[in-house]
Amino acid sequence: MTRPYNLSAGPAILPPAVFERTAASILEIGERGPDTLESHLSILEISHRSSTFDRIHDRAIELCHDVLGIPRTHKVLFLQGGASMQFAMVPMNLAQAGKPAAYVDTGVWAAKAIKESKLLGETRTIASSAASNHDHIPAMPGPDAYRDASYVHVTSNNTIFGTEWEQLPALEGDVPLVVDLSSNIGSRPMGIERVALGYAGAQKNLGPSGVTIAFIREDLLTRDPVGVVPSMLRYATHAAENSLYNTPNTFGILVLRNVLEWMQESGGLDGIAAINARKAAALYELLDAGGIYRPHARPGSRSRMNVTWTMTAADDAGRDALTKRFLKAAEEAGFSGLKGHRLVGGCRASIYNAFPEHGVTALVEFMREFQRTAG
Ligand code: PMP
Repeated sequence: MTRPYNLSAGPAILPPAVFERTAASILEIGERGPDTLESHLSILEISHRSSTFDRIHDRAIELCHDVLGIPRTHKVLFLQGGASMQFAMVPMNLAQAGKPAAYVDTGVWAAKAIKESKLLGETRTIASSAASNHDHIPAMPGPDAYRDASYVHVTSNNTIFGTEWEQLPALEGDVPLVVDLSSNIGSRPMGIERVALGYAGAQKNLGPSGVTIAFIREDLLTRDPVGVVPSMLRYATHAAENSLYNTPNTFGILVLRNVLEWMQESGGLDGIAAINARKAAALYELLDAGGIYRPHARPGSRSRMNVTWTMTAADDAGRDALTKRFLKAAEEAGFSGLKGHRLVGGCRASIYNAFPEHGVTALVEFMREFQRTAG
């Protein structure tokens, strides 16, 4: 069987070159370093404090700066617990007494971050797109809305609804900007230099699940938490130990390094951004053409990573039947993972960095043909 087109929202498609490199690291080794006994063992069975792993780890951090554009003023950390753990770690570490945490609510993941913040302290939602089922990124309010805040939190790409910030907001004053970058990190230049604390589960653009990238401006490491924060949940603990306070996800970090090397060889952020722009434009052009597909996200807020749409029909039952038929035909044609999240309904094409341009061309052709024969 030929390999299906993988449109899964995450864990998601990875480049074939990354599978090959990773397989070599597991099976034969020789991790491009000095010829030690250890270098002939599988990466899966060596110490996280070995020189072989050290090289992989250090290179992954370097590439986070070089390829992703994470400023050198920030400490890069490889954590566990997913982005969901960050929803709690952010307020635990950054909330300050008498200063609310300010959030922009752009969908399910933003709402989950808000929920954790509310468990821990005073929380203010300063903008929301909830009233229109999160079909756009709301305008960023002026500084009066957040001047007194401990930090402002936004979600750069809303995986479920298919919206993203065109550029990350430039805050006025010195309130730190905290960003959940889980589903569009490394997809294009978007103002990452504005981020004081950023985080992302790796399992979309950067690698397998189980490793979480966080980067934090060094001055924030000395913020005194309001409450008691266990050592494992403090950024300062992990920063002081270069993410080796406890055993990290060594395999995940290896794959992350391989993905970042692949990104570098693919033209870096600018090269990847140009391809991503073309991929998304091809799909939105079809969705905007006024046939049986209706795009969910409004122009100006549209994600280049998760393209969401519903099917049009005379009534709900007709729409459900058409959606089912579309998804079945797509599956048969080799397109895996197109079913949308139940909160939007319809379909979602997750076209992360590793999803090839020819795959988008094939998908657009399939959708055109389905539309032609559907009625
Ligand atoms: N934030 C966003 C934007 C996401 O898309 C996801 C997962 N799909 C999460 C947070 C949660 O990530 P995790 O499963 O790594 O906790």
